[in-house]
Amino acid sequence: MKLRTIYIIILTVILISFCVIMYSAFSNIAVHTSSDEAAYPKPYIVIDAGHGGEDGGAQVDGVLEKDINLNISDKLADMLRLCGYYVTEVRDDDISVYDRSSADTLREKKVSDLNKRVQLFNSSADNIVVSIHQNKFDNSAYSGTQIFYSVNNDKSSLLAEAIRRSVVGLIQSDNTRELKPAGTDIFVLDKAAVPAVIVECGFLSNNEERSKLLDENYQSDMAYSIAMGVLEYIETVKQR
Ligand SMILES: [Zn+2]
Repeated sequence: MKLRTIYIIILTVILISFCVIMYSAFSNIAVHTSSDEAAYPKPYIVIDAGHGGEDGGAQVDGVLEKDINLNISDKLADMLRLCGYYVTEVRDDDISVYDRSSADTLREKKVSDLNKRVQLFNSSADNIVVSIHQNKFDNSAYSGTQIFYSVNNDKSSLLAEAIRRSVVGLIQSDNTRELKPAGTDIFVLDKAAVPAVIVECGFLSNNEERSKLLDENYQSDMAYSIAMGVLEYIETVKQR
């Protein structure tokens, strides 16, 4: 055989092996069920894309918060899965997660949706929660990621601080926003028993930031920054 033919055969074998490895990695992601959590390193990560379905969340110029939340959440979940973690998404589609059998009115659906999220957050003591939202304010000058943490678990503020540092360090060097403890008005954080944070990635009410948040590359950068913060938190907690 000519050297060139051997070279092509070797290259093909490498390429096929790579495809098989990637295929099995991704098909594993698709078939995760709660029963195989134990095979993964702790913590288990719950990604909560805020709002969904009939609840669009904040809205500016036809841009709906729920859609940006979902895009960033999906990217974040994929990145953390590729790092080997067990990730559950509260929703991976444009839906509200209320109980179909009991909730009827819009208010009942909203209450049921929030309760279901909290149930999932607290479904394992080994969970940590990152909830993704977007901000909106009367003054359009406001911009920048703002992070809230649950006061029920003392690790929540560590998780929030790791994400804050990562976002500021990687994509928002001029962001001076401080972490905020969540009050009773933020239901999901008020009821979370595990380490839990809400990342308000940016302000839809700020034109420049809204354009960025609609850009897929910026969404990936945001997801990457949050993922790096989550990984740093995991390392910090391990060392304590
Ligand atoms: Zn929201």
